[in-house]
Amino acid sequence: MSDTNESLQQRRVDAIPRGVGQIHTIFADRAENSTVWDVEGREFLDFAGGIAVLNTGHLHPKIVAAVQEQLTKVSHTCFHVFGYKPYVELCEKLNKLVPGDSPKKNLLVTTGAEAVENAVKIARAATGRTGVIAFTGGYHGRTMMTLSLTGKVAPYSAGMGLMPGHVYRAQYPNALHGVSTDDAMDSIERIFKNDAAATDIAAIILEPVQGEGGFHVAPKDFMQRLRALCDQHGIKLIADEVQTGAGRTGTFFAMEQMGVAADLTTFAKSIAGGFPLAGVTGRAEIMDSIAPGGLGGTYAGSPISCAAALAVLEIFEEEKLLDRAKSVGEILVTGLKAIQARHKTLAEIRHMGSMIAVELSEGGDVKKPAAALVGQVVARAREKSLILLSCGTYGNVLRILVPLTATDAQLQQGLNIIGECFDELA
Ligand code: PMP
Repeated sequence: MSDTNESLQQRRVDAIPRGVGQIHTIFADRAENSTVWDVEGREFLDFAGGIAVLNTGHLHPKIVAAVQEQLTKVSHTCFHVFGYKPYVELCEKLNKLVPGDSPKKNLLVTTGAEAVENAVKIARAATGRTGVIAFTGGYHGRTMMTLSLTGKVAPYSAGMGLMPGHVYRAQYPNALHGVSTDDAMDSIERIFKNDAAATDIAAIILEPVQGEGGFHVAPKDFMQRLRALCDQHGIKLIADEVQTGAGRTGTFFAMEQMGVAADLTTFAKSIAGGFPLAGVTGRAEIMDSIAPGGLGGTYAGSPISCAAALAVLEIFEEEKLLDRAKSVGEILVTGLKAIQARHKTLAEIRHMGSMIAVELSEGGDVKKPAAALVGQVVARAREKSLILLSCGTYGNVLRILVPLTATDAQLQQGLNIIGECFDELA
């Protein structure tokens, strides 16, 4: 008997803990660019892009070819045992791409959370301090340190006991909800007064555009004031670009649009077009704070993932995907605004390049998050063969992370379905 979504779902429930979240009860069989076919042969338009991993689409032929070629050479040595060129070449390229004039070095690991863990380790070693300031609504991963940094308790850390200490939470600016740049800066000064001296803080970590928190864009003046504050107190500024990176926002890193450079930058997700790769790039003298052997891992910077990432960088050049990120953003935002004109419940459309979100609230009242409606829209869109995601502290934000390689016709098709969902449900 052939597999069905239902039969695999039953096996999943029996074999896999419920903590492994599930947004859609669909099992993929194969995928190409922005299209996924499930095990029953049904076709879906993918506006989720593996949660920001597929900026170059599913199985881009150039990535497939690069990986196939690498597989004829070497798949694993552990970089600590035998080095290999793709790791070195990729680090050289990323050191040039990450914003900032000072010489840089780059470390490769496997997941976004691991990159964040390492950035904190490096900042601690560089400063001899332990404290870290993170932000409301921030998301940095599911490992212990990153859970402490993540500004959303349920479902991530609830019931899991004491998290690593010396993490302090400041307010992320959020104009829609009345948090100004001044408020956010004041919240940091309050931490210095109430919780920990500035001289005990190793790092301030933030996402230039919050991902899981609801696609809030950090105002440029906030980022610049944060930079000045870090310089004043000898604190390292960490930009977590795990979700914003690899071209999603219209520049390769979102920080390029902020007018200042971070000391350390984390990246993952779309950097290797669907293969597990992450890393930290930072000012060379900071990156060298940790002694030999203190950084790395068995699979860190796998040759396969490095080959894929090198192909991703070439695809961005050849297909001008940074320009495409801007035009995809414009097309989708224009279409969403037309839907907003019919439905007050679309309280705000936010975007930087192709990182696009719509916050839903009852009757447009931002104090009444419409999380249930987001769930209904995501489910109805799936019935109509469009895969969407939600996010936000209150789960009331629809987010779009469509591959930048999607065609205009596919973008329009997705917009039509989103419009129909609101017409039917809102
Ligand atoms: N930081 C940010 C900004 C993220 O969006 C994520 C993943 N959503 C992470 C860190 C963690 O990455 P991973 O799931 O690869 O550990």
